[in-house]
Amino acid sequence: MNIGILSLQGAFIEHQKMLTRMGLNSFLVKEASDLDKIDGIILPGGESTSMRYISQRKELWSELKIRLNRGLPVFGTCAGAILLSKAIIEENAETLGLIDVQVRRNAYGRQIDSFEDFINLKFSPEKDYLAVFIRAPGFEKIGPHVELLAEYQSQPVLLRENNILISSFHPELTDDLRIHSYFMDIIKSKGRRIN
Ligand code: GLN
Repeated sequence: MNIGILSLQGAFIEHQKMLTRMGLNSFLVKEASDLDKIDGIILPGGESTSMRYISQRKELWSELKIRLNRGLPVFGTCAGAILLSKAIIEENAETLGLIDVQVRRNAYGRQIDSFEDFINLKFSPEKDYLAVFIRAPGFEKIGPHVELLAEYQSQPVLLRENNILISSFHPELTDDLRIHSYFMDIIKSKGRRIN
């Protein structure tokens, strides 16, 4: 199994370190042709406008959209989640439009308002997952087929729709492998819902 990580900008090395710790092969995706080599892809946190701009210039954007629509499993964290959403509230910017969720950028405030706190993951019996929020987006107008996997103060922060997983926080900045492991299960089941 080879996991791609979109590596144009943002926290891609941190995701790679997580996958290495799990004994998994990863591949830093920089070009459209790199998409042939992977079984799933992570879109990291960073700056969604920069990632969109760079990937559109490289034709990576359109090719990625095709693969994701065909069912390539994807995990978008923070800026990556923004790119996967159906629309950005109060902005007319293009998204990949894969998950039936609208996002509000920087919903929790600016860089200085970054914080970490404990949440519970619906798929894990162990309590207290430490979630790191950095200029995190808010998820709104969530469609009926989207599964809620975690919330923070009654707000959704981890969501899944078939082959698409999104978090508003940064699982790659902790030592906790549970969410990356959950994404590996999605890849193994090729995007089908696992109960
Ligand atoms: N606020 C950033 C954006 O809109 C995302 C922040 C992050 O990925 N940590 O792209």
